[in-house]
Amino acid sequence: MAKKQEAEKHESKKDETKGAMTADCIFCKIVDGKIPSKKFYEDNTVIAFLDINPAAFAHSLVVPKLHFKTIVDGTPDQVGKTFIGVKNVTEHMKTRLKCDGFNILINQGREAGQIIEHFHIHVVPRFKSDNIRFIPPDHKASDAELDQAFNKLK
Ligand code: AMP
Ligand code: ZN
Repeated sequence: MAKKQEAEKHESKKDETKGAMTADCIFCKIVDGKIPSKKFYEDNTVIAFLDINPAAFAHSLVVPKLHFKTIVDGTPDQVGKTFIGVKNVTEHMKTRLKCDGFNILINQGREAGQIIEHFHIHVVPRFKSDNIRFIPPDHKASDAELDQAFNKLK
């Protein structure tokens, strides 16, 4: 096969793979600019834009440009660079919003509340007076329960 044909075949295969992964992905469409977003940050690896259904004022999402579903599916490099994006976005938001703190959250897997199957990190700025509470159930673990978890993890 001529070199050019081989290259074209390889290219179309690459596109098919990309299409299969991303054709219906709303965040891929936002990354590609096919769906509008209030994007306020971009680097080589991630974009950040406002969540349209915010848990608090200026709730934002940091989204890698490359499609992968979870922290487990991304390579260490992709995940690491995505977290550098989170750090930059958090610093930017702190400077601009003068917020007092953040909730930084990943919903991983449907059972954990992941609706969009393109990895993303929620960055929710918090203010002293915002009266928002993200509080897990008040539950003091027994020694047996801690041991059971610890024995599985160590
Ligand atoms: P998760 O439950 O972690 O998958 O969260 C997905 C988040 O994406 C939700 O908070 C949605 O409000 C947000 N979201 C969905 N579609 C859009 C969109 N087109 N632009 C901005 N945020 C979106
Ligand atoms: Zn995607």
